[in-house]
Amino acid sequence: MKSLSDAIFLRNRLIANLEEADFECAASFHAPLLNFVVAGGGFAGVETIAAMNDFLREAVRYFPHIREEMLRIILVHSGKVILPELGEELGAYAQRKLIENKVEIHSNCKVTAMTDHDVTLSDGTTVITNTLVWTAGTSPHTLLDTLPCPKSKGRILVNECLEVLEWPGVWAFGDCALVPDPHTGTFHPPTAQHALREGKLAAQNILATIRGEQPKPFRYSTIGLLAPIGKRTGVANILGVNFSGFIAWWLWRTIYLMKLPRFEKKVLVALDWTLDVLFSKDLVHFRTTRLRTPPPAQKESESTPA
Ligand SMILES: Cc1cc2nc3c(=O)[nH]c(=O)nc-3n(C[C@H](O)[C@H](O)[C@H](O)COP(=O)(O)OP(=O)(O)OC[C@H]3O[C@@H](n4cnc5c(N)ncnc54)[C@H](O)[C@@H]3O)c2cc1C
Repeated sequence: MKSLSDAIFLRNRLIANLEEADFECAASFHAPLLNFVVAGGGFAGVETIAAMNDFLREAVRYFPHIREEMLRIILVHSGKVILPELGEELGAYAQRKLIENKVEIHSNCKVTAMTDHDVTLSDGTTVITNTLVWTAGTSPHTLLDTLPCPKSKGRILVNECLEVLEWPGVWAFGDCALVPDPHTGTFHPPTAQHALREGKLAAQNILATIRGEQPKPFRYSTIGLLAPIGKRTGVANILGVNFSGFIAWWLWRTIYLMKLPRFEKKVLVALDWTLDVLFSKDLVHFRTTRLRTPPPAQKESESTPA
């Protein structure tokens, strides 16, 4: 789960599975279509499973041959409590809320194998499913492997001013770079909060270097972390203060709405979210694949030289 197209692909898969299960008479064929596994209990995994759970449980009533009890939505997390970045208290709260909303959580557990029709977990469980969503760690872009600069775990090593080590005049930032954080003695996390600010600083530092001035080091501490956990509830830590429930969900929506570029976009999204509160989920299934049409066959007289 990395890009918008991954999210659209997943939404289409959920609807396709519900449609197929609704028409499927043999009970044994229901499980792979109605069991869903998400691997990874960090932000991306929790947001994904919460959204999938809300979507599937609301959608199921439009499919007359499927009952809600037939759905199995499973989160697999290698640690004790989900959302480790938010601390044990908020993680435990999120875990409790997800379980209340009928999500099955396998903690201290890993995915050990997968095939086209099942997923095996380290606690011995085998889940028959055709849907496994992977959020247990994203790897850096493979293009970085082709660059001859120093790297660690596939990401480019830069100094505090975002200049690539041993490559003066070459700059890297965002998810592709490992930017040292002198406060923690480790590296800044790969988040959009950091990438946006690093981008601005890199531009200023490039200009400063061209003008013969000193580049500035990157200094930033995470302002806050927020995650929606389904049914209009969320968890958040902003400037060290913990929030949970509706207020955290509302903060998450409001902050991300404010961050959208352009006023028109903000209004469109705000309207869309308001309509989402008033109406049920949109179950329209967009087909995103293009059919390849073979070129028209040439007539023999056209293809044979005179
Ligand atoms: C599911 C998920 C949820 C997240 N939620 C949050 C959150 O709530 N808050 C937060 O702060 N961060 C979040 N993040 C992290 C955040 O998305 C990233 O840290 C941020 O997008 C990094 O920005 P970037 O510009 O370095 O890379 P990207 O945003 O990945 O941008 C890289 C760009 O390069 C383009 N590209 C790739 N290959 C090529 C090529 N060969 N030629 C030209 N262009 C190319 C890509 O299309 C892309 O547009 C989330 C990440 C994920 C996966």
